[in-house]
Amino acid sequence: MIPQQLIQSLQNIIGFEENSFLEVHHSANQITSVRVNNLKGEWVNSEWEFEIQEIQTNQHQTPNTKQNKNSIPWCKYGFYLNERPSFTFDPIFHAGAYYVQEASSMFLWEVLRQTIDDNTQKTVLDLCAAPGGKSTLLASYFTNGFIVSNEVIKQRAAVLVENITKWGANNIVVTNNDPKDFKNLQQFFDVVVVDAPCSGSGLFRKDKQAIDEWSIENVNLCSLRQQRIVADIANCINEDGILIYSTCSYSKAENEDILDWIIEEFSFTPIALQLQNEWGIVETISDKHKAFGYRFYPDKVKGEGFFIAAFKKENVANTLVKFKESQLIKTTQKEIDIIESLVAINENYFLFNQKETIKLFPAKWKQQLQIIAGNLYIKK
Ligand code: SAM
Repeated sequence: MIPQQLIQSLQNIIGFEENSFLEVHHSANQITSVRVNNLKGEWVNSEWEFEIQEIQTNQHQTPNTKQNKNSIPWCKYGFYLNERPSFTFDPIFHAGAYYVQEASSMFLWEVLRQTIDDNTQKTVLDLCAAPGGKSTLLASYFTNGFIVSNEVIKQRAAVLVENITKWGANNIVVTNNDPKDFKNLQQFFDVVVVDAPCSGSGLFRKDKQAIDEWSIENVNLCSLRQQRIVADIANCINEDGILIYSTCSYSKAENEDILDWIIEEFSFTPIALQLQNEWGIVETISDKHKAFGYRFYPDKVKGEGFFIAAFKKENVANTLVKFKESQLIKTTQKEIDIIESLVAINENYFLFNQKETIKLFPAKWKQQLQIIAGNLYIKK
């Protein structure tokens, strides 16, 4: 049973239609979707009927992928499956060839496509990252960027490491820090994604336990926590940088009200996105400051409940920030010789030693990695 208090609280929210909302929650209909890994090469799977024949490096071009009836329209690499296979028995799932991700949340791809002119050379933070759905999407989008994928809860950070490792991107650092630990990284990032912990009403169709745990009190607690989280990282974004805020909640207190609060507290300008009618996504505008948000209702989109909004950072005082750096432990010549006898390493990469393991990282991001090492706990 969907909590009556939630239904009441949504009565005047744009796009909410009680009858169809309840109907879709009472139907047994489950949607399964996957996002395939562009980093693992060309991808064809006749069994599940999706195929990507050509991988493009420029994400801004119209996809030249074979459009399939099961394509998710807002994410180039996203596909709906007709049924839910047993993923745990599929070796290529364990090889990171695809990520099982809810379709609405893949809209992050379209937000990036519409808000970021040039996806090369960006420094990107995914602040609330476990288990890694948004981070793996970011890795597919910012193939030449520097990505920090952070999770505050230790056990969840371990799962994040596992999923990031499987994804196989060479430009992600996984950190295990509280958002307040980012305070010395002022204006460090070009893009910050806050996929905030929330009351979870958007997942009621998939996760019945979320229904039992839902309460108005928890919505209000989540709203306060979301404010704290955004406050901790708001100054980490560069001038003209992008903040993307999302939740899987329907509650205004966690969505539109947070957008208003962000505008009141910090110098951000809301960004309007272009939608296609057939997607079924509902644009919402916050009460006080007219910020744009995007609502996903499962009776209108082929996906679960979701909310997302994007802002551009304005007017950063022109201060020259000097970041603390930590030197990475150099590899010895003997170690280099051994490694080079096994793998061809060119000047695009450098080697360093982390906890008795030799790591390889893109050379152009060495300084950024040293800054992260100087300020945060690097888990991977
Ligand atoms: N972005 C993830 C993905 O796409 O797979 C899902 C993130 S989930 C909605 C929110 C995450 O925030 C959880 O992993 C949770 O552990 C983390 N979290 C919980 N409390 C937090 C806090 N106070 N600050 C930052 N993150 C927190």
